[in-house]
Amino acid sequence: MARYIGSKCRQCRREGVKLFLKAEKCFSSKCPMESRPYPPGQHGQRRGRLSDYALQLREKQKMRRIYGLLETQFRLYYKEADRLKGSTGENLLQLLERRLDNVIFRMGFAGSRTEARQLVRHNAINVNGARVNIPSYKVNPGDLLAVADSAREQLRVKAASDMAQQRGIPEWLDVDASKLSGVFKVIPDRADLPLEVQEQLVVELYSK
Ligand code: SF4
Repeated sequence: MARYIGSKCRQCRREGVKLFLKAEKCFSSKCPMESRPYPPGQHGQRRGRLSDYALQLREKQKMRRIYGLLETQFRLYYKEADRLKGSTGENLLQLLERRLDNVIFRMGFAGSRTEARQLVRHNAINVNGARVNIPSYKVNPGDLLAVADSAREQLRVKAASDMAQQRGIPEWLDVDASKLSGVFKVIPDRADLPLEVQEQLVVELYSK
């Protein structure tokens, strides 16, 4: 599967907000958004007023980058969200939140979604007792996720879990940090998601 291999911090600077793509660095003074909170490039500091289309595009790019997806994958999620009943924007966020790599990140077993994806790809995650190595696997309410025995001693897993416990675990998850396992209790409502994105702009962009 293709993936973005450029600078992650550049993506945050482009979107003008912290997207938290790099684990501990995002919470330290080394985060470039602390010292250079403007778009990258020679003319980064000269950006004028954005058109409606540019605003919609930026919002879509922001959401896509938060979840670490390429355009094709992201558009497939949008199509699925559009087919479901209810608000397309909220459906889209809920589908993205149900990705296995995202849930592992939210449970605090990885410092970033990229790290979570690597854990999943490396057979380090069990879902309901069975090994699942597909980052896009759709987690269902009631599913029990656990770090496999082979990965429990990894220092990065322990460090990520300690940091996540300090920051707090979302209410829709029931995590047992001592066992490095947790239950995905319910699909979160939009109001529960701590995301600085305007999903309606993404819907406006794609429904043109
Ligand atoms: Fe974004 Fe994290 Fe890099 Fe800061 S350190 S710019 S939040 S990826």
